[in-house]
Amino acid sequence: MARPLGVVLTGGIGSGKSTVAGIFSKFGACVIDTDEISHSLTGKGGAALSRIAEDFGTEYIHDGSLDRTRMRELVFSDQKSKQRLESILHPMIRAEVVKRIEKCAFPYYLLVVPLFFEAGHYFDLADRVLVVDCVEKKQIERVAARSGLNEKMIRAIMNNQVSRSYRLDHADDILENGGEMGELEKAAYRLHCKYLDLINRS
Ligand code: ATP
Repeated sequence: MARPLGVVLTGGIGSGKSTVAGIFSKFGACVIDTDEISHSLTGKGGAALSRIAEDFGTEYIHDGSLDRTRMRELVFSDQKSKQRLESILHPMIRAEVVKRIEKCAFPYYLLVVPLFFEAGHYFDLADRVLVVDCVEKKQIERVAARSGLNEKMIRAIMNNQVSRSYRLDHADDILENGGEMGELEKAAYRLHCKYLDLINRS
């Protein structure tokens, strides 16, 4: 069987990536979420924990999992540590992604990569780039409601990501997520049909 069509889903913080991924998984698409893989590698019993303990010290492991708060604080202020952590996690995440793509029996996969443009790790697995987008004000409102971070903290995270216009300029497809869930689901379904159509015509 030919390799499935590869759709990478990306978007700024709080734009709706997980929400969109959930919708596509209901359509039957193989949804592969790099954040979810990263969490399982660093959660209880995760395969990355021993390497992290070796490189960073056991104080970064708490209750059998990565101490995310402590690690976030370190990598936010120290670029070298950030790179070191990425050099442990990225190859493991990618290996798992490739394994899941090999197992994908659907005509396309949806690979969720929050920092797709910033990190540049998955360009080779992206036949199309789908950007989920909403105005910054809405991003901030949603992240604040979900996480309790304040606007200043959210803007600091956003400033470490590519701009909204960069993302939109480099998208093959855009899902506008400024409105109701029902509208988003309908727009996602239209895209799902478009992907199947593209695959049938190729
Ligand atoms: P992150 O970048 O932090 O991982 P994300 O891009 O995956 O976030 P989601 O988690 O899908 O974004 O959405 C952010 C929040 O906004 C969630 O609480 C979600 O339920 C809510 N949300 C997303 N889209 C909508 C919508 N169309 N209507 C109402 N709430 C929404």
